[in-house]
Amino acid sequence: MEPTPRFLITRDLPDSAARKLLDGILNLVYPDACALCGAPVARSRECSVCAACWDLVLGLKIGPPCCTCCGLPLPGFDSDPAPLCLDCLDRLPPYAGARSWGHYAESLRGAIHALKFAGRQRMADGLAPLLAQAFLESWRREDFDAIAAVPLHPKRKLERGFNQSELLAVRLGRILGLPLVRALERTRPTPPQVGLGDADRWANVRGAFRCTRPRLVREKRILLVDDVMTTGATVGSATTALLAAGARRVSVLTAARAVL
Ligand SMILES: [Zn+2]
Ligand SMILES: [Zn+2]
Repeated sequence: MEPTPRFLITRDLPDSAARKLLDGILNLVYPDACALCGAPVARSRECSVCAACWDLVLGLKIGPPCCTCCGLPLPGFDSDPAPLCLDCLDRLPPYAGARSWGHYAESLRGAIHALKFAGRQRMADGLAPLLAQAFLESWRREDFDAIAAVPLHPKRKLERGFNQSELLAVRLGRILGLPLVRALERTRPTPPQVGLGDADRWANVRGAFRCTRPRLVREKRILLVDDVMTTGATVGSATTALLAAGARRVSVLTAARAVL
């Protein structure tokens, strides 16, 4: 959850001199704590991460060469011609392509954990522009019709109070001007993928998603958003559900990319 409810008071006020004054006073009395290092930060900072920690996050951006299809970083490969990773050479995934903004390590992992497990929902405000940056480096807005988020099982969403992927997708949709479609659901609670090998990850999420409103995705070119991608098993399974419901094409965008 957000640090304290009192902070909502000024955020809900119109942008006025009175609000700025009140914000300034509250900043002095109750500075927020950086979600990564705990140092005091102004509450007006977009995602409650201090400038030094945010610089560390920005240093984790993924650069070429990457797999042309799934976006896996392929350090040491030649960018020309554009490479494919061994997994994609072996079997092309169901999605048309996948990209991630940064490496799932250190401060970016910390930022995503703060969002997911410490309820720092404002972190999504800081991460969404990074997703937009990764999107625009690979794709064009006019080649997409809608955004969808990888859903949590209702039980887990109830426990957490929110779906971190949907928080990212909503904000990204606003930046790119793409509508969010809520058309996917998890049909069964799947154990966390952490600790599973490649084959077990695919088996764990096979058939775990269902499209509840095919009308919203039929013939649509969809951008599927998640927080972290590892083998692509989860986004692959969600993609299959969207394609089965008639989506024309599904591409995947995640904040971070982990490597097994
Ligand atoms: Zn910090
Ligand atoms: Zn690949």
